[in-house]
Amino acid sequence: MLLSGLVCCSQLVRARALGKTKIWAELGIRIVGASTISHKQEEKIDKARAICDSVKEKDEKILSLERKLCELGSSVEVRISRMKESLKTSEDARQAAEARASDLAKELELVKADLNSRKSERAIIDEFKKSKDKKKSAMTKTRMIDIAVNFTDGMFKGIYNGKQCHLADISTVLSRAWSTGVDRIIVTGGSLEESKDALAIAETDARLFCTVGVHPTRCSEFEESGDPEKHFEALLSLAREGVEKGKVVAIGECGLDYDRIHFCPVEIQKRYFNKQFELADSMKLPMFLHMRAAAEDFCHILEQNKERFSAGVAHSFTGTAEDRDRLLSFNNLFIGINGCSLKMPENLDVVRGIPIERMMIETDSPYCEIKNTHAGMSHVRSLWPSKKKEKYDDQCLVKGRNEPCLVRQVLEVVAGCKGIANQDELSMTLYHNTCRVFFPQDLDSVADALITRGKSTM
Ligand SMILES: [Zn+2]
Repeated sequence: MLLSGLVCCSQLVRARALGKTKIWAELGIRIVGASTISHKQEEKIDKARAICDSVKEKDEKILSLERKLCELGSSVEVRISRMKESLKTSEDARQAAEARASDLAKELELVKADLNSRKSERAIIDEFKKSKDKKKSAMTKTRMIDIAVNFTDGMFKGIYNGKQCHLADISTVLSRAWSTGVDRIIVTGGSLEESKDALAIAETDARLFCTVGVHPTRCSEFEESGDPEKHFEALLSLAREGVEKGKVVAIGECGLDYDRIHFCPVEIQKRYFNKQFELADSMKLPMFLHMRAAAEDFCHILEQNKERFSAGVAHSFTGTAEDRDRLLSFNNLFIGINGCSLKMPENLDVVRGIPIERMMIETDSPYCEIKNTHAGMSHVRSLWPSKKKEKYDDQCLVKGRNEPCLVRQVLEVVAGCKGIANQDELSMTLYHNTCRVFFPQDLDSVADALITRGKSTM
């Protein structure tokens, strides 16, 4: 081994004791310049150098290990922070998934509930269809004419209190009416404009007819038009047009309504009730009359004009037994019965006193339905499923809206409260009465044939 300097033993011992490479480097400097060393000293130096090398090597290993540890530490820290982050993200995702799952569960419950309600509605409709099919053959013998239907009312256009709830549905309403035994309907006109609408509607189906006239509560329109005579002429010309088309079958509705004089004063009502007999006389048409809480004046005006009209019906009768008898004293006058005539037990007593030969039936749709609370309801046999207007379904009636198929219920109540077992016979008599007044041209052929057929099957 070649050495470039001498190192004293005490310094070497110190270097070994300290075990620090930098001290050895310091010693190395001092070795430079030494001249000779003994063999023993050389061995010691070698040993010391070996020790220093080994210490240096260990130091370097320690340093390298420290570096690795440091690197490992920082990489572990990074990993931990990444894991924390990913854990946080998974936690958020888990919470979001839980919330979504709970929303979906709620939605599922709603869908299930809706499905159940649809199923039960469907079941009612199916049940109704089955019973309808069963009844169909029995129903064919019952023939009815609904003499009062306000098809010009917004409800048949789907409008209730100014709000559109469903589409116009007169054709659906008519299908129900025809399938229950109604074979004609008279659409009511209650003002000049409404009479024009009624005629337009009547022209859409061969089984529809209409009236032309002004309702007592709207008689102010004569004077408000600025020229009452011209207004009258317009009504007359509309009536003429409607008769030529085979659609106008009566003048009306006209009459007196003292329950609603806030719409039109008594004197105006009386003046234009009188005036409308001129229409009936000119056109040789019967009258479709409205009388409410005004029996005395009404009968007085009828008496004064008895030569000017062939026949008439006081529709939607709600009067007393005395009112009834006053009307019946006119032998060309009939009484129209609807749900409003069948509300109280006293109303049923009054109806019981009307001979069926002097009676007609009607609905006055969309008003005057027979409600569950009405006395007449106990005699009702035919029921239809109904739904609220907001849940419109063309397979169902609209709750609270009367329609012509329900004239069958009126027939049932009249039969029930008068104790008439054969409803078909009753329907034929009422049908005949209606034809006598509004469809005299059919009396000899169609109506009489129907009545004969009806009676022959009793
Ligand atoms: Zn009326």
